[in-house]
Amino acid sequence: MTKHLAILGGGCAGLSLAARAAELPDMAMTVIDHPDHQTRRDHNWGCWSIQSLEITGLEVAASIARKTWSRWAIITNTDRHIQTAQHHPYMAIESKAWLNHCRILARQQGVIFTAAKVTDIMPHKTAIELVAEPELPVFDQIADSRTPDLPKGIMLQHFRGVEIKTEHDVFDPECAVLMDFRCDQSRGIHFIYVLPYAKNRALVESTMFSPELAPDNFYDKAISDYCDHVLKTGKTMVLRREEGVIPMGFLAPRDDKVDAIGGNGGAIRPSSGYAFVFIQRQIETALASHKTYGKLRFKPPHKRLDLWMDAIFLAVIKKHPEYAPRLFVAIAKALTGDEMALFMSGLASHRLRLKIIMAMPKWPFIRAMFSRPWKDIK
Ligand SMILES: Cc1cc2nc3c(=O)[nH]c(=O)nc-3n(C[C@H](O)[C@H](O)[C@H](O)COP(=O)(O)OP(=O)(O)OC[C@H]3O[C@@H](n4cnc5c(N)ncnc54)[C@H](O)[C@@H]3O)c2cc1C
Repeated sequence: MTKHLAILGGGCAGLSLAARAAELPDMAMTVIDHPDHQTRRDHNWGCWSIQSLEITGLEVAASIARKTWSRWAIITNTDRHIQTAQHHPYMAIESKAWLNHCRILARQQGVIFTAAKVTDIMPHKTAIELVAEPELPVFDQIADSRTPDLPKGIMLQHFRGVEIKTEHDVFDPECAVLMDFRCDQSRGIHFIYVLPYAKNRALVESTMFSPELAPDNFYDKAISDYCDHVLKTGKTMVLRREEGVIPMGFLAPRDDKVDAIGGNGGAIRPSSGYAFVFIQRQIETALASHKTYGKLRFKPPHKRLDLWMDAIFLAVIKKHPEYAPRLFVAIAKALTGDEMALFMSGLASHRLRLKIIMAMPKWPFIRAMFSRPWKDIK
């Protein structure tokens, strides 16, 4: 008998799941998004290409990636470390390209798209009722990707960026800059992220890790200062802008009576804000459980040990933001490019984790452990 699945939220997780409808022939799917939903400005998803995982979402993403980089740099006032990957390059996927790709596949498989404001979820014995305006039919299963509530004081990753074209060639298109701390550190952890698409074209982003957002002109000034004094770009043309806020921490799902997916389902890696890879893994695992047990089971995609390490790391940089530049460089120096890619994608072995632990200054981490920061892990 056909079961009816409602996907709440048509963002990255919702559409990535809907795109796999062909693999769930015994399920009818409806994607429900808020009527006021405004398609977010096009932005990039950066992540590492890990083909060996055999995750369909990642393989497709790699095939439509705008660009990949086998080298990337982490830079501070005193250090410049470049990592090189043989197998797992960093890649940038355009959100519009990914979401359109998913929408087309979903529509081809008969997925229904509906606009409704869901205000409550009421599970009954044989079906789940959504209290919504306009009214909706009942469903057998819900995958909820609505944005979760953010606990007060949580660490946030917040950023504003511009894609620019320069008059002269100033970028090395073969080397991305994941973090350059040569910028204003007065408001907390702050770095510039550069994805060079060509010698004269790049995304330049001012990114902060802190509980408080900064005024828009803080990020804008950081970008123009970086262009003027570090890149020495001369005249530039702004082609596109992007901005965002990503929670870095341990979030409870929006409604624990139903399955949670995406950021709402714990897919955002607390210490980095990366989520795209983890969303694809969460969906792949759920599809595998459907194949084996006949039931779609959505689980948070991170290993407990990674969450535990992330909690301690976050506690250290929250208390001592001034340590951040040297901690990130120390991690980069301890690992090869491919190891970094595996670690950031949640695929670290114990040996690799130990390498990172050994590279960290011991006292700040031991002190942070006394506050038991892992108690927030859900
Ligand atoms: C600008 C930006 C850049 C990012 N860059 C990266 C990156 O480089 N790499 C990376 O790995 N991660 C990145 N992330 C983090 C993460 O990948 C994204 O946040 C990702 O979009 C999360 O997907 P999601 O489906 O969980 O949430 P979303 O994509 O935010 O989707 C949630 C959906 O729920 C809908 N919704 C909300 N409330 C309701 C309601 N009441 N009723 C119905 N629908 C509702 C929303 O309209 C939205 O469509 C970025 C995030 C942002 C915002």
